[in-house]
Amino acid sequence: MVFSLALAPFTLPAQSPLKNQMNKLADGLEKKVITWRREIHQHPELGNRELQTSAKIAAHLHSLGIEVKTNVAKTGVVGILKGGKPGPVVALRADMDGLPVTERGDLPFKSTVTTEFNGQKTGVMHACGHDSHVAIMMGVAEVLASVKSDLKGTVKFIFQPAEEGPPAGEEGGAQLMVKEGVLENPKVDAIFGLHINSQTEVGTIKYRPGATMAAVDFYSIKVKGKQTHGAAPWSGVDPIVTSSQIVMGLQTIVSRNLAITEYPAVVTVGAVHGGIRQNIIPEEVNMIGTIRSFTPDMQKTIHRRINEIATNISESAGAKADVKIDVMYPVTYNDPALTDQMVPTLEAVAGKDNVIIRPLDTGAEDFSFFQQKVPGFFYFLGGMPKGRKLEDAAPHHTPDFFIDESGFGLGVKSLCHLTVDYMEQWKGAATAGGKKK
Ligand SMILES: [Zn+2]
Ligand SMILES: [Zn+2]
Repeated sequence: MVFSLALAPFTLPAQSPLKNQMNKLADGLEKKVITWRREIHQHPELGNRELQTSAKIAAHLHSLGIEVKTNVAKTGVVGILKGGKPGPVVALRADMDGLPVTERGDLPFKSTVTTEFNGQKTGVMHACGHDSHVAIMMGVAEVLASVKSDLKGTVKFIFQPAEEGPPAGEEGGAQLMVKEGVLENPKVDAIFGLHINSQTEVGTIKYRPGATMAAVDFYSIKVKGKQTHGAAPWSGVDPIVTSSQIVMGLQTIVSRNLAITEYPAVVTVGAVHGGIRQNIIPEEVNMIGTIRSFTPDMQKTIHRRINEIATNISESAGAKADVKIDVMYPVTYNDPALTDQMVPTLEAVAGKDNVIIRPLDTGAEDFSFFQQKVPGFFYFLGGMPKGRKLEDAAPHHTPDFFIDESGFGLGVKSLCHLTVDYMEQWKGAATAGGKKK
């Protein structure tokens, strides 16, 4: 995107004195937010292990006079700030976990933390930018606590563990928070969240109404044949040839069975394991993969077709298929009415030309679990240095992932403005923006 002064005709709508005050507070906090982010970046923690991070958050919220609950969904922190006037409950969410990625590059606050993950030694890195989310939300908490008496409602700050998924065998993330009642008591009327993006220019906000990020499911297929000598395949049932046919059969789900003009979908085979030696046809082959979809109907069709294809191809070969599908995250769904209501706020804070609709994203986000229960709006904040070429900006989850901290100010302001505008526009629960999906 090219910015030109001569071509910047937009004028910001008049801002209320409260917003001007919040902007000033946010500007004054910028250095502090960057310092917090660097401290958290240097000490990343994996999902359900965010002990130092949550202790830091809890101490900060306490210092602001905010009511604090800790150990929510394992390591989560929830802060409740009651405004001076009555009104709705607005929840703001920041995720806290890092990833098993070894950081490259030479930032002075680079992570050198290492750990063991799934039996492998690995570095730990905030390679998705959740360190930015925590720091921005700590800044938002400080701004909103400073204008507490002017707030027409309550703010619930949700610092969430394990967005990237809990360790094997553990519960965690947004799903566990919801299960533990984080959206109740006081009952949340709407929830907002943002994700920093390493491939979106600083100063830009991207969003999408309705389905935004995909639902994700995992599946596994075990194909059982009959072991035999590699020189005499006719004496057995070959699960390798059968699995190959299944892999090809799975390709027809998206291309032949789904109305792809409505929404895209993905069926990926991520691993195929079977066999040990050139001249042995093995007993079984195991395959695993992932499914991405945007509507419950398409998701159902994909599940049914995976079962039919694996079972019937196996049967035709005299083999047997065992199919298992694990439903993981639902669609990240921005409530259309709430989105319509709040986009003008983003346009006012970022400038109309800097708020852009993004395409569907086949990635997933567990913010979706909150949105299943209450109207929610999730948007993307620019974190790529201005003028950098997209191909030079490392994607999320990679060792060279980089975030330009000059984007944090807009993060703090946008969340503060969304909160107060939602409160100002509140007309009671009966007319609240948005229906549940
Ligand atoms: Zn991530
Ligand atoms: Zn993330």
